Amino acid sequence: MTEHDAPSTEDLDRLLTLQGIDDEIRRLEHQLDGLVEQQQLDELVGQDTLLAQGDTELDEQLERVKRDQRQVEGEIDALGQRLEEERTRLYEGSLSSAREIQAAEAEIASTSRRRSEHEDQLLEIMERAEEAEGRLDDLRGVRASLAERIAEATQARDAAAQELLVRITEVKVRRDPVAAAFPAELLARYEQAAERGGGTGVGVLRHNACTACRITFPMNEINGYLMGPPLTTCSQCRRLLIVPA
Ligand SMILES: [Zn+2]
Repeated sequence: MTEHDAPSTEDLDRLLTLQGIDDEIRRLEHQLDGLVEQQQLDELVGQDTLLAQGDTELDEQLERVKRDQRQVEGEIDALGQRLEEERTRLYEGSLSSAREIQAAEAEIASTSRRRSEHEDQLLEIMERAEEAEGRLDDLRGVRASLAERIAEATQARDAAAQELLVRITEVKVRRDPVAAAFPAELLARYEQAAERGGGTGVGVLRHNACTACRITFPMNEINGYLMGPPLTTCSQCRRLLIVPA
């Protein structure tokens, strides 16, 4: 650093003020990224995602049961119609031979038996449908109350995030005039160092160490700093280093 652009004491103070402001912004942004309200919301949404999967599966299961039900109902109808036709043939007296009558009676008996089997099957299917409907209703009840909790959690998250965003904006408003007061070259050096240094761009030589990286310097290096300019670069972390007079 040449004599020409040696920073003033005010600039050095401002550097630390700027670092303080940037630390605060970073802390608030970190809080924003790790909001408890967001974690709670994520957890509830995760629960609902699982339940939604169950919802879809149950719904599909119910659809299949209903399809079976319609099919068996159709078969029962067809068997009923066939019974009616056979009975009509039998009782209208259109059958003359004993053999024809016997065949019709046998047909009626077997059709009737098959219909009764189908009716039992239908009852069983309807029970399954009822059970699936009950489970689906329960699940949807749980999801409805979960949806309320998700809405509340979303509100809480939004409120917490909004509050932090407002605070971040306020701090940034405070930063602007501080940053504007710097020589452009010094501000650029600070910002580059901060970007490389995880947000911290400047340290102070204090207790024989750099406050940014906390590494203690050997004595000869400290003497070098003390005899050098008030603003230099930390040999360890390459951040700006303020050497107090
Ligand atoms: Zn350092």
